[in-house]
Amino acid sequence: MEIFKSIGEYDYEQLVFMQDEETGLKAITCIHDTTLGPSLGGTRYWTYEKEEDAIEDAMRLARGMTYKAAASGLPLGGGKTVIIKDPANQVSQEALFRAFGRFVEGLNGRYITAADVGTTTVEMDYIYQETNYVAGTGLKPGTSGNPSPSTAHGVYVGMKAAAKKAFGTDSLEGKTIIIEGVGKVGYLLAEAALEEGAKVCATDIFNGPIERARDLGCDIVDADEMFEMQADIYAPCALGASINDDSLEKIKKAGIKVIAGAANNQLAEPRHGDKLEEMGLVYAPDYILNAGGLIQVADEFNGGYNAARARMSVDRIYDQIEKVFKIAERDGIPTYKAADALAEERIKAIRNTRSIFTQNGKSIINR
Ligand code: NAD
Repeated sequence: MEIFKSIGEYDYEQLVFMQDEETGLKAITCIHDTTLGPSLGGTRYWTYEKEEDAIEDAMRLARGMTYKAAASGLPLGGGKTVIIKDPANQVSQEALFRAFGRFVEGLNGRYITAADVGTTTVEMDYIYQETNYVAGTGLKPGTSGNPSPSTAHGVYVGMKAAAKKAFGTDSLEGKTIIIEGVGKVGYLLAEAALEEGAKVCATDIFNGPIERARDLGCDIVDADEMFEMQADIYAPCALGASINDDSLEKIKKAGIKVIAGAANNQLAEPRHGDKLEEMGLVYAPDYILNAGGLIQVADEFNGGYNAARARMSVDRIYDQIEKVFKIAERDGIPTYKAADALAEERIKAIRNTRSIFTQNGKSIINR
């Protein structure tokens, strides 16, 4: 792998390799862009076949965080860590994550970490023993806890903005919504939609979530039959790549007009976003819609978490989605490209202000 060629391609700022013999720690932190503020992104603890895969994962995810933070109006840049998991490593989780915490401290605020796939509050608590540059710990005063309710609320308000564009009203009353994946986010989204008078058809691959959704008042459909019914809105809240060649045809036949869900990377390939536009569907780009959790975590750095203030910020996802639609119309581009444009325009505008000299820069972490 040609490292400098790779990090040059999308203008990555920094790629940090960390290893500790004692604990067997092998970690890679990628800081993509800190124009808007310190980089923030979770720590993924995962097994990788090759080191290149881990590097690529860290880079791809860090860049995604830059766009998510920028398009959400947050004073944060994008970063991400992967810790390469070695199933044979017998060292305690505490030792491993405290070692990592010391490296995070060494980055002196250029990177703030949080939980991601394979890490939870427990690991964040270990990291917090060594550094304050961590969000979502159970121990830190002013911590914000489980991000899923904020994520679900953001998806809900963003869905309403998309509904307004498609149907002329943002009310979900009487609308039929297919929610694919009724886990932590999908369940809460279903609850909000039902409360507003929508009909919710839920699908999942496990019985537990299905039963909980049924108890809530959802109709249950089989995952492979979900597009055989007629519906207004499709909310992918399971895994990525659910908008693909196969599903697009079915989505069309089901009469769906809006796609608005929590899952990351919903488009299997960018061309599927172009296709949605051609088909006349309103697509609310995933990383703006599901930014509620990030917005919540960022609020911790405003002198401790304030739920009411964070909720107001999450509510602004409605406006951000409307901005995306305006950019799409202005430039004649699909909404997934408009989301990127929204992020890039903000970064560019703020980068220009950085040319003004100050003795000591202020940021979210030293307010
Ligand atoms: P989760 O694991 O709690 O829920 C996902 C649900 O989808 C599970 O119930 C699972 O059984 C189901 N599922 C998996 N494959 C399926 C399939 N093929 N068909 C139907 N159901 C399927 O996860 P979550 O926290 O609710 O997150 C949902 C999505 O939103 C994920 O893609 C996640 O990356 C994204 N997201 C979540 C958050 C958050 O705060 N939790 C934030 C941003 C993005």
